[in-house]
Amino acid sequence: MHSRHDYLEEERLGKALDIRLLSRLLRYVRPQAGLFLAAFLLAGGITLVELALPYITKTAIDSVLTLPWIAVRAADPPIPEAIPLGEGRFLVKEGALPQGIREELERAGAVEGRYLLIPPDGPGAEIAARHPDLFRTTPGGYVVAEGELGKLSTDERLALRAPAVRTLLYLVLGLLALLLLRFALSYGQVYLLQYAGQRIMFAMRRDIFRHVLRLPMSFLDREPVGRLVTRATNDVAAINEMYTQVVVYLVQDALMMAGVLAIMFRLNARLALLLLTFGPPLLVLTFWFRKRARDAYREARRKLARLNAYLAESISGMPIIQLFRQELRSFRAFQEINQGYYQAQMRSIIVYGIFGPAISVMRNLALALLIWFGGRGVLSGVFSLGALVAFTSYVRMLFQPLSDLSDKYNILQSAMAASERIFKLLDEKEEPTGSRPLASLQGEIEFKDVWFAYRDEDWVLKGISFHIAPGERVALVGPTGSGKSTIVNLLFGFYRPQRGKILVDGNDIGELDLSQLRRRLAVVPQDAFLFSGNVEENIRLWEEKLSPDGVRQAAEAAGVHGMVKRLPEGYSTDVRERGGRLSVGERQLLSIARAVAADPKLIVLDEATANVDSHTEAQVQEALERLMAGRTVLAIAHRLSTIRNVDRVLVLSQGRLVEEGTVEELLARRGLFWALWQLQFASPARNPEGADRRPFPKG
Ligand code: ATP
Ligand code: MG
Repeated sequence: MHSRHDYLEEERLGKALDIRLLSRLLRYVRPQAGLFLAAFLLAGGITLVELALPYITKTAIDSVLTLPWIAVRAADPPIPEAIPLGEGRFLVKEGALPQGIREELERAGAVEGRYLLIPPDGPGAEIAARHPDLFRTTPGGYVVAEGELGKLSTDERLALRAPAVRTLLYLVLGLLALLLLRFALSYGQVYLLQYAGQRIMFAMRRDIFRHVLRLPMSFLDREPVGRLVTRATNDVAAINEMYTQVVVYLVQDALMMAGVLAIMFRLNARLALLLLTFGPPLLVLTFWFRKRARDAYREARRKLARLNAYLAESISGMPIIQLFRQELRSFRAFQEINQGYYQAQMRSIIVYGIFGPAISVMRNLALALLIWFGGRGVLSGVFSLGALVAFTSYVRMLFQPLSDLSDKYNILQSAMAASERIFKLLDEKEEPTGSRPLASLQGEIEFKDVWFAYRDEDWVLKGISFHIAPGERVALVGPTGSGKSTIVNLLFGFYRPQRGKILVDGNDIGELDLSQLRRRLAVVPQDAFLFSGNVEENIRLWEEKLSPDGVRQAAEAAGVHGMVKRLPEGYSTDVRERGGRLSVGERQLLSIARAVAADPKLIVLDEATANVDSHTEAQVQEALERLMAGRTVLAIAHRLSTIRNVDRVLVLSQGRLVEEGTVEELLARRGLFWALWQLQFASPARNPEGADRRPFPKG
């Protein structure tokens, strides 16, 4: 059973940025460094394009939509290039007027309206000549006040302003080109990042599974399957999100903010400084958010872990809950945990709910200030309208990264927690194995005073010693939980005994290369596991050399050919995951065929404990008989009928070998074996099938 503490690991949460973890993550990034570098370059390009867009608008407003000439009242020409209009007025190009003079004139109230000037030989001169009442002729050309333009027809106005219309067209085309470029760059960036992210995920999943394949059984016993699955899927995906949605974009955001500030200072340093006053409150807000968001996140994760643990425990124990009518109690306990999680989530939502809108309020405050001060600047002529419009866009661009920050922070936080868990798994020690090769096998087994506990000092085997000679057939019997399957687990090196030695052909298995040892032994396990795939694949497993004919021969040798033939599609019958479509007996027969196909010198049978009908039982017996011929056999027998043909019987009780001898000897002794024998054969009324009838059989 996986108790609650198994899930508590989910609560261990690190920081949002942990240098040690980042440097380990970097190992996966390095092979994709080219992709990331390209994405960074694209980020630079995107930033430039984004920065340019408002600037184009500004240009359009200032140099096309605004008439460039203004009239000023003055005794002398304010600048040499001024065009005299008569009556103490001069026409000057706004851009040519030094700022100081401009402000002086503004204060004196000497600035009058805007004018359009048509050079005498330029386009539109004809139209101007046609309206002497509106256009005044000056040394610089025809001049008309902005307000008077309304008296012309629309066509005439457009014709007069043809050069401006053309410039506008170019600007719009430029804008379109930039938008297209921005699209292409963004597409490239997203593609590169996703590509890199997918490859990183691919490598991480590969490493995780490869590592899990080498983990010792003692670790896998402790670890809930769901958690390992989560490592290779959800956790890896959380890290991917960090690569695809945070890393490059954080840099891009920083570039963008720096660029925006630089442009703002160039356009108008005073306004830029004004906006900078928002910096400190924004920093305070961000720090507040960071702390509260982290606390809220941890709290929520902790509550979620409790919820998961309780759910998993209750659902797997549902029969017991219902049997003992604990529904109401269980429901109340669940509701309490549910409520805790709900409240933690709400707290986290509130933190996020405050941060986003607070940023948006600040942004709008900044816009309001901008419109007040910037608008006054435009009215007083010290600030162009185009610059004000561009400023509003830039303010938005300045605040956008800040409001995105909360999402990015969340992603970073999850990614760090996920990588911490993944690396913890990858740091688990692999199953220890010796290196001595095992070229061939005679099939001799010896246990020398073996003591073993799955946990601490909870001894399951207490000083087991026995010897099995090559070619000998030995049965292991004993009550349930006496340690029979444990002996098999030790023989295959799944666990290490705490004391004593296990020898195979005289070699301590602790020194042997485990994969070679396992290849030379074959087991028919208590709970035959079938992989998804068809019957043939399940017999062959990974013995690729075995042809379909070889598989049939193995099946025939094991006496299961007949059974397979009766399946709906014979050898091609799909067994579905965990052999759901095959019965216990059929599964056992298949796993016998599997053992024959492996053709081992030493074979270990852990008889199925579930009931099979007497026909199947006979079939299994016959298959086993053939399998055992000419091999060393260690058979764990539940149905004592299995042991009629063995040379010797070992009787296990509570982790100790209590009796040993031939069936006849043991029966004559009238000890534990005799008692077990009596239970199965002497009193059919109590145990009609002569088989294990525990209410909750285990594997
Ligand atoms: P059965 O006849 O039911 O198959 P068995 O003799 O094969 O029983 P084992 O499976 O060897 O019994 O179990 C021996 C003891 O070790 C039992 O008390 C069992 O609960 C315990 N045990 C078995 N596997 C583990 C494990 N992976 N972790 C902890 N304890 C275990
Ligand atoms: Mg067992």
